Amino acid sequence: MEINRSKGTKINDVDFNSVRFGEIFTDHMFECNFKDGEWESPLIKPYSSLKLDPSTHVFHYGQAIFEGMKAYKDKDNQVWLFRPKDNYERLKKSCIRMHIPVLPEEYFFEGLNKLVSIDKEWVPNKLGSSMYIRPFVFSSSVMLAASPSIDYKFLIICSPGGAYYSKSLSVYVENKFSRAAPGGAGYAKAAGNYGASFYPISIAESKGFDQVLWTDSESHQKIEEVGTMSIVFRLGDKLVTPKTSDTILDGVTRKSVIQIAKDLGIEVQERDITVKELISEYHNGNLKEIFGCGTAAVIAPISSFGYKEDKFELEEINNSYADRIRLSILNIQQNLSDDPHGWRHRIKD
Ligand SMILES: *Cc1c(COP(=O)(O)O)cnc(C)c1O
Repeated sequence: MEINRSKGTKINDVDFNSVRFGEIFTDHMFECNFKDGEWESPLIKPYSSLKLDPSTHVFHYGQAIFEGMKAYKDKDNQVWLFRPKDNYERLKKSCIRMHIPVLPEEYFFEGLNKLVSIDKEWVPNKLGSSMYIRPFVFSSSVMLAASPSIDYKFLIICSPGGAYYSKSLSVYVENKFSRAAPGGAGYAKAAGNYGASFYPISIAESKGFDQVLWTDSESHQKIEEVGTMSIVFRLGDKLVTPKTSDTILDGVTRKSVIQIAKDLGIEVQERDITVKELISEYHNGNLKEIFGCGTAAVIAPISSFGYKEDKFELEEINNSYADRIRLSILNIQQNLSDDPHGWRHRIKD
């Protein structure tokens, strides 16, 4: 792998106390191009803009997928990733669904390790802070033919961020729009899934909600995800989350929440849950917690949901499952506790 280092660093211009998510980027990026049927040798180079022809395939036909992961620094300045192999496996699935060639595993891991190691200074060492890592790939042929692109560009960029604080969210049960449908690309981290979700989310916002609770495309009764996160409910002392499917993305945080809950002795059911069941459990006092989970927030508590004209407010709860599970996951991510499942991945210098 060719490494082309930046002349200086931008790090001294950054006020780490006020950076917002995804607004500033580190000194370097990883790039690998697919040309003539194969991946060329990858390189790391200074972070810089791309020059793209207006007819570049991705602008017209949207073959584009991405991943999201985080790097944490411990008190000994050691940098750790969390379950990166799972991100690579999902990247592969997303690529296949969008008919994008898959970057070889060794290129991905070499590039990721080297890039994070070179930009190690950018990983904040404050508790709860981390550096967000965004691998992505898009179709880069210069052509308007409505057929798969021939060329692709794979990049990894990194963005340092402070502790992610999420206020309790209020969510609207979507009964018109769908994020995903059977046979579609909902299980892939396809850029277009996000693009298509912003309009329904903006409508929910105009009704006073923060996010959309997505339901199945046919009956709009079975709950699937919340915004761009997996969804978990606490009914009594059990957790319930929908099974992954072709409309429900296989979240790394979701899997981790399920495992940690089991480790804490909490029963977890992976099954369908309908709006009807949710409302009935709410009325009989059994609906104790709702939370979303994903890499950015880890766990985002949800304090109310709206369905058609009705709004349902949850009671505040002490020592919530959400808090307990979040703390356990953060402790593993930041090397503050044992790692019984081998989830931490150390970045070598
Ligand atoms: C990325 C994503 C998630 C969360 O996945 P993590 O691996 O936990 O970050 C959940 N749902 C959707 C639709 C997503 O795009």
